[in-house]
This record gives sequence, structure tokens and C-alpha cells, in this order.
Amino acid sequence: MHQMTLAEIARGLADKKFSSEELTKVLLARITQLDPQLNSFISLTEELALEQAKAADARRANGESGALLGAPIAHKDLFCTQGIRTSCGSKMLDNFKAPYDATVVSKLAAAGTVTLGKTNMDEFAMGSANESSWYGAVKNPWNLEHVPGGSSGGSAAAVAARLLPAATATDTGGSIRQPAAFTNLTGLKPTYGRVSRWGMIAYASSLDQGGPLARTAEDCAILLQGMAGFDPNDSTSIDEPVPDYAAGLNGSLQGLRIGVPKEYFGAGLDPRIADLIQNSIKELQKLGAVIKEISLPNMQHAIPAYYVIAPAEASSNLSRFDGVRFGHRCADPKNLEDLYKRSRGEGFGAEVQRRIMVGAYALSAGYYDAYYLKAQKIRRLVKNDFMAAFNEVDIILGPTTPNPAWKLGAKNSDPVAAYLEDVYTITANLAGLPGLSMPAGFVDGLPVGVQLLAPYFQEGRLLNVAHQYQLNTDWHTRTPTGF
Ligand code: GLN
Repeated sequence: MHQMTLAEIARGLADKKFSSEELTKVLLARITQLDPQLNSFISLTEELALEQAKAADARRANGESGALLGAPIAHKDLFCTQGIRTSCGSKMLDNFKAPYDATVVSKLAAAGTVTLGKTNMDEFAMGSANESSWYGAVKNPWNLEHVPGGSSGGSAAAVAARLLPAATATDTGGSIRQPAAFTNLTGLKPTYGRVSRWGMIAYASSLDQGGPLARTAEDCAILLQGMAGFDPNDSTSIDEPVPDYAAGLNGSLQGLRIGVPKEYFGAGLDPRIADLIQNSIKELQKLGAVIKEISLPNMQHAIPAYYVIAPAEASSNLSRFDGVRFGHRCADPKNLEDLYKRSRGEGFGAEVQRRIMVGAYALSAGYYDAYYLKAQKIRRLVKNDFMAAFNEVDIILGPTTPNPAWKLGAKNSDPVAAYLEDVYTITANLAGLPGLSMPAGFVDGLPVGVQLLAPYFQEGRLLNVAHQYQLNTDWHTRTPTGF
């Protein structure tokens, strides 16, 4: 039962082969049995899950239908869930029970999803390895000595290990696509503004975007359908109709123009990954796609620009966690300054503190022009590169990551080494574009992802290409041993 995709679950529930309650019980038992190896959950919400499952079964019995009605999922632990701990992977929010549901959570609940729990993540979504969580590192089900990627590593590990079919996640610089690549999943970062950020604890507000992590493009389409749409509570949410993503999966790829940026195949890329990307290109050519070499000349500036902009916004967003308005409060403060210092010093981990300091420095008087403003100008150049490229091609294809998942602890002493691994993913966030990662093969038994990028609001095109690819390949069906 645990092997089923969201699409298969929807068919099984519609055909009355099993109930949502039965399925939910199977998955909860599986999580209890297997998750101690992975640490992919911060909180399990068994009672809520059984309640929601029974309610979904009752709705079906009353004649309602819907692809998500009775579908078990989990939420990354930065989506606010009313009355349930929403920790953001931080000691700072260990005792925070959100007073309301994030829009993504309430929309999915209304569609009938069953929330099994809240998934582990890098603290405040800062990281690429899920090692900065206060609740401990998450392990990669493909090799328990390796990281699952981050920051949505809990969602990724849980779905890859078949503890559940799909989960929500967020992507500020790659946190959906990179863990998808590291765990053999399909993950979609939508266009900025496509999915509401209301009730999603902010890391870098101009970059953050929620999206689905699942095993197939078809399941990403189903989950995105329940997440996307205008929300008056989010001032950056865009009032643009949401297409029927599942209905768009079967378009022909005949004549599809795929751009392959020459900058993607530089020295930093593992040659074995380069080979797998070439194979995926050949596969898409067989389906009728036409390949064109393109150039993204400003890509080399993207990492430094991102690692100014994201910490700058984080330093501002995280100022609310001061032990007074929100978050952990130290014991016996001597005075107000002591309270701030010790509450924040105790509540935040090392990576979060590093980013707050970098961000506050970049924003300070006298440095703003040299760092933040400069980074914003680079951001525009990165966007212009994409706009020029999309005049010539329909999608852009390349590797999701330069290397497969590294060993736990391998990059702990060198944060910049981890930042460099984001080279292929962060440009989409800087430009606000949609991007998808899908399974493309294995290197040393570890999964490799191929990334597709599309123009604004062309999530449907990404899902269509990925679905056609998955109809003709079987990488996405491989299961990690032991799960
Ligand atoms: N690895 C990037 C960072 O640490 C991206 C994280 C994310 O997308 N949330 O900022």
C-alpha cells in the first residue's frame, strides 16, 4: 500500500479498494517503524490524521470526489499549523504552536488531504544538507551515511522512503529541487507568487516559494493544484488563473525547444552527472525535442548575490524572534539587553547566527550600496539572461546539482563549500522563475537530478515535459533498499 503514488491512491479510493483511514493507519505504522533511521519527522499528528481521514471517507461516501480527497501528506515544519508545533527546525520555536493555518495548509485541508505530521528541515530553511536542524540531521534513505539535501530534507527523505506519497516543501535557493535530486524525487518550485506565502515562516521573503515534493511529475501536478492560487493575505501572491495541471500532462514534446546553457558544464560539475544529463537530453530528443546551446553569462555572479540578499532579508525577518514577541526566552534575564542576547544566542544555531550577522552587516549604513544594492543589480542581470534565453527556447535544461549527496558532516567545517553546491538552483529564485528537478540516474548508488526551468507561470510546461520523460524512463520508480 505504501508504494502507491497520489494518482494511484486517488484511483484506489474512488474504486473503494481501501479507505483513507486504512491507508493512514498503514502509513502511520510505517513511519513509527522506519523513521527512527531517518529522522524525517519533527512531529507526528496521528490524531489529526485519523480525524481527517475519517472525514475524507465520509465526504467520499456522500458522493464527493477529488484527487486529494483522503490523500495522506505531511507539511514541512515551517508551514503554520493551528494548534500544532511549528518549529522551523529551531530551538527558538520548539514550543511555538501556531494560532492559525498557513494558506497552503488550509487549502490542502479543504481539498481533503490528511496531515500525517510535520517534517524536519534545516533551521529556518538555511542549508543544503538538513544538518542545521535543532532536531538533528536527516539521513538519506539511499545511503544512511549521506545527507538527503536541504532545507526540505525531511519531506524528501520521508517521501523517498515511501513513508508517504508526497509532502509540501519550500524553495528559497533550491530547497525543493536539490533534496529532490538527492533522493530520487520530482520536486517543483513554482513561479514566485504562484503559491501563497501566508503562514509560511519567512526566510528570505523575495525568494521563498512553496511547492510539492513527490515521486512523479503527475503527483506534483496533483499537489500543486491544491496549493496554487491567489491569496489576498499575501501581497506578493499573483492573481493569475490556475490551469488544470493534470490535464496538461499529455502534450506532445514534438518541436519543444530545449536550451542547454554552456556555462552549466564547467569544471565544478561531476563528469558522471554530466553524462547522465546528456542521456536525459537524448531521451527528450527521441520524444521530438530540439536542443539548442544557449548562454547565461551572469550565472557566475549568482551565488555571491544570493548569499548577500538571502541573509539580508533573513536578518530582518528573524528580528521578531527576540524572546519577547516570539520565540525562546532565556531563564532569569538580568535586564532587557541580557534577555535579547541570551534568548537569541540560545535559540538560534550557528548557521542562522552566521547569516543574521552577514545580513545585518550587508544592510548597515555605509555598506548597503556596496553589497545589498550591488547584489540587487546582479539579480536583474540574471533575470535578463533568462529573458533573453526564453526568447529562443521553451525550457532550459541542466543538472540540478554539481555533485551527488555528500556524506553527513563532510561540509560542516566549510559553509562556503556547501553554498557552492547551490550553483544551478539559486538563479531561478533570483529571477522568480519556476523550476523542476526529476530523477535522471545514479552515481555510486546515489540519485542524480536533471533540472528544467521555464518562463513565468509555465509550471504546466515543466510538468508536461517531466511526465512525458517519466513515461519513457524508469529512474523515478527505483526504490531505496530497506524501504
Ligand atoms: N541552500 C540554500 C540556503 O541555504 C537554499 C535554502 C532554501 O532554498 N531554503 O540558503
